Amino acid sequence: MSLREVRKLKEKEEGVVILAHNYQRPEIQRIADFIGDSLELSMKATEIEAETIVFCGVDFMAETAKILNPDKEVLIPDRNARCPMASMLSVDLLTEYKKKYSEAEVVLYVNTTAECKALADVICTSANAHSIIEKLESDVILFGPDANLAHYVRKRTGKKVIPIPEWGHCPVHVSIGVDDLKRARNKYPNARVMAHPECLPEVQEKADLVASTGQMIKKACSHNEWVVLTEREMCHRLKTIYPNKKFYPGKDAVCVNMKKITVEKVKKSLESHVHEVNVPKDISKRARRAIEKMFELTL
Ligand code: SF4
Repeated sequence: MSLREVRKLKEKEEGVVILAHNYQRPEIQRIADFIGDSLELSMKATEIEAETIVFCGVDFMAETAKILNPDKEVLIPDRNARCPMASMLSVDLLTEYKKKYSEAEVVLYVNTTAECKALADVICTSANAHSIIEKLESDVILFGPDANLAHYVRKRTGKKVIPIPEWGHCPVHVSIGVDDLKRARNKYPNARVMAHPECLPEVQEKADLVASTGQMIKKACSHNEWVVLTEREMCHRLKTIYPNKKFYPGKDAVCVNMKKITVEKVKKSLESHVHEVNVPKDISKRARRAIEKMFELTL
């Protein structure tokens, strides 16, 4: 099926909006109504008037859209598009840490299950994690599940940020090593290096800029050539926005779960309204409170 056919099908299906994450395949980015990072997509989800949201991303993103739009139909084109990092934090472990550090405030990365979000004080994304933590009263923060993002916010805020679990990570970003960064610097001596805060601490420290994908888009205007250390589709996204600048992936890092969403599956979602995302009401209500707290602290 061609992209034009999917677009036509979408036009026929009134009241449908397609949201896509920056790491989606280029052809999915082309059929999306809105493309963004987790924060931008969460905010967009609060403004949608359409009755149906087709979410081209991974499980926790579609769940977040459902939590924010309990009365709308939220569809994910492939149920198996799951973020492995989100499954690294369990309710049991979180409950254990909350008991152990009862004085701490609990900040969870949006890459978590709805059940864990329901136990958090506030949710964050990589774009706003440090500013949210700065605004909290407590100097002790439980932060999960990404230990590398925890390192980044600890450095920026000076607070005691305790990662749960200690080893939480994104397999895609930790596959990018310092050797990849050095190789890219040698190959592209005029380029600056931008890295996502899910990258390893030693990679973050050697980069010129550490930024979420949304921030990468905003800051890329400051220089003409960049090495980009994150999922490979980000280069496509940046090139689309800045056709006269040069972007090189520091490594061919691929999120296989993001790539499970294909044009064919989006077509099936549009035609048959599959696969519907549901979150139990009590969990959704508590998780929504923590997400709304993020919006409150982001403004
Ligand atoms: S890039 Fe990493 S954090 Fe993002 S969805 Fe894929 S596995 Fe999860």
